[in-house]
Amino acid sequence: MGAQNTSVSASLDSQVTSRFWLGVALDVPIDAVFDYFHDEPVAVGCRVIVNFGRRKVIGVVVSNPDQPNFAADKVKAVDEVLEDTPPLSTQWLDMARFAASYYQRPLGEVILPVLPASLRKLSAYTGKLAAGGPVARLAKRKVRALAKVASDVPPQLNDEQTAAAAAILDTGSANTILLFGVTGSGKTEVYLDAALKVLARGKQVLFMVPEINLTPQFELALRRRLQHNDGEYELAVLHSGLSEGQRLRAWLAISSGQAKVLLGTRLSIFTPLPDLGLIIVDEEHDTSYKQQEGLRYSARDLAVWRGHQAGVPVVLGSATPSLESWAHAKAGRYKLCSLTHRARAVSMPDITLIDTRRAQLEQGFSPQLLKAIQHSLDQEQQALVFINRRGYSPVLNCSSCGWVSQCTRCSAYTVMHRSPIGRSYLQCHHCGFQTPTPKHCPDCRDQDLKPMGRGTQRIEEFLAEHFPAARIIRIDADSTRRKGEAEALFAQVHAGEVDILVGTQMVAKGHDFANLGLVVVLNADTMLFAQDFRAPERLFAQLMQVAGRAGRHTGGARVLIQTEYPEQSVYQSLIKHDYAGFAHNALAEREAIALPPFAFQALLTAESKELAVALSFLTAARDLPQKFNPALPGTEQVRLYDPVPLRIVRVANVERAQLLIESTHRPSLQLFLRAWGFELHQLGREHKVRWVLEVDPLEI
Ligand code: ADP
Ligand code: ZN
Ligand code: ZN
Repeated sequence: MGAQNTSVSASLDSQVTSRFWLGVALDVPIDAVFDYFHDEPVAVGCRVIVNFGRRKVIGVVVSNPDQPNFAADKVKAVDEVLEDTPPLSTQWLDMARFAASYYQRPLGEVILPVLPASLRKLSAYTGKLAAGGPVARLAKRKVRALAKVASDVPPQLNDEQTAAAAAILDTGSANTILLFGVTGSGKTEVYLDAALKVLARGKQVLFMVPEINLTPQFELALRRRLQHNDGEYELAVLHSGLSEGQRLRAWLAISSGQAKVLLGTRLSIFTPLPDLGLIIVDEEHDTSYKQQEGLRYSARDLAVWRGHQAGVPVVLGSATPSLESWAHAKAGRYKLCSLTHRARAVSMPDITLIDTRRAQLEQGFSPQLLKAIQHSLDQEQQALVFINRRGYSPVLNCSSCGWVSQCTRCSAYTVMHRSPIGRSYLQCHHCGFQTPTPKHCPDCRDQDLKPMGRGTQRIEEFLAEHFPAARIIRIDADSTRRKGEAEALFAQVHAGEVDILVGTQMVAKGHDFANLGLVVVLNADTMLFAQDFRAPERLFAQLMQVAGRAGRHTGGARVLIQTEYPEQSVYQSLIKHDYAGFAHNALAEREAIALPPFAFQALLTAESKELAVALSFLTAARDLPQKFNPALPGTEQVRLYDPVPLRIVRVANVERAQLLIESTHRPSLQLFLRAWGFELHQLGREHKVRWVLEVDPLEI
């Protein structure tokens, strides 16, 4: 694995026999690869310790140039070449390069942050504790063997499942497959069937899920099936909830090829898989696949790219595909496989809209809803009450002077919460600020402070009063904050120890509940009129997914959705279970006004203590192309909108505004962003703002 194109320069210091030039990527916000040298060849993909400024840092060798870019006599030697892991492969580096270029980030800021911390933090290699580095220490550590799980026998696949599994592995056609299967249609069995065939050929499988909470369910399904085929295909799991040691172990097991299946959340897309044979992206429409900080990548889109690069199939599975993926499938770029009915040959749930304009509500519940829950209890079935708002109530209000609980640091209300011991406090969901709930109005001192509206806690409280015999649990971000809590709560539901489950979107996706016969939805309308053009798509997907938790094993389930706008087309498509109809209309609307997927977008967001500063930076950024025209490539195809403040303009005393960039031609947008992004660095320094450029933003 010698370096190529090495140069031996006799004109240099005679002490130095040979210098092998290295281009090294570092995790610094400078769009450059840095020159170093070593007295022996170092392969591309190796990790090295180098001096940068006054610090020592870990970097990755990304090139072996003939000559440095920098004056050769100023180039420093690398400190140490780390040989405790194999070099990152060229394929892996190509993916990192693609991500850096597509998402407009310096290469080093892509490569290093996606490595397990102990492979990129110098502290793992310095000091007595770290003698030999993290990998050496791991090797010494005994690994606790996993408890065996009982294997299970795969069900006989139905015709649609069989066809889908065959289509995935049919290499003769498009390698991206959109597996469009209604909720409960048995997509998991299709994934497993295809995965086992790929494993049997000695290849690796990457299986991505949108949420940590879904990993235990799939881990169990995979382990049962992998054992059944007694092939000892080792399974590694990767998500952000792991300890550093666990994460490093999983990474090493997969990147060495020892483990054959990687189950993980979005970050797993950046794991080296030397024998990659198949990528599965479950619930591909889920916005959790988009990273919202640092490198703002879409793991789904990178999966498609990676599958293409490696020449392996990529399965995108969903009952409600993203309109982007649906449009690709309709245009023939993806292969469309449909599962049109439920695998256990049971009916789809019956979805009913309840018009709340004419209903007498009790704590947000119409009489039909309460009756349906009572009926569900009588039938000894489980009911799910879905409300996408956590806490007790979204705002506290003084009925005598009109004071409302407002975060002092954000342009948002503080939400009333109850702590587990019953203490009441106000919390800002944007900056995290917390304060005890005041006993009287801070303005007029009146004691009559009223919680306005309802969140999961208040719903739970009401249901407990109304159905005193029912066993009720709540699953939301608050009830599952500690490690293992979510898993324990879901286990209770699966064990039948729960009658009524109150939950946010956390419970809506992916879970296969056996005995859930009723789903009721409380505040769906709040999403209907959101400003984002994707709001209807999200609402449709979310309601379809939550409805899909009902009646998966026995059928005959009901879904009741309360709304003041039953005539809206989102709801009308929903009651017919008509994703295709919904998508057709939504795509026609998008096409008419040239929105994604018929246009490509980027979003420049600026942050400053003063809104005027953020806006003036954005205005200057918008005007840059005019100044540079026609020097900025792509400009004539790109449209820049006027800068606008964000809907929640202030968070933690920082004002935020953004500028939308759009083009119907993706390469033009990319060309433009590269040139423009380069100019933004200087402009940002002049205006003293923090800014971030996001490509393919999901929220506008
Ligand atoms: P999806 O992910 O498409 O919503 P699942 O994969 O969770 O659906 O499958 C729904 C249920 O149907 C699961 O309980 C699963 O075990 C069962 N199932 C799937 N395929 C079959 C089959 N061919 N025969 C019988 N049961 C099946
Ligand atoms: Zn008051
Ligand atoms: Zn706040």
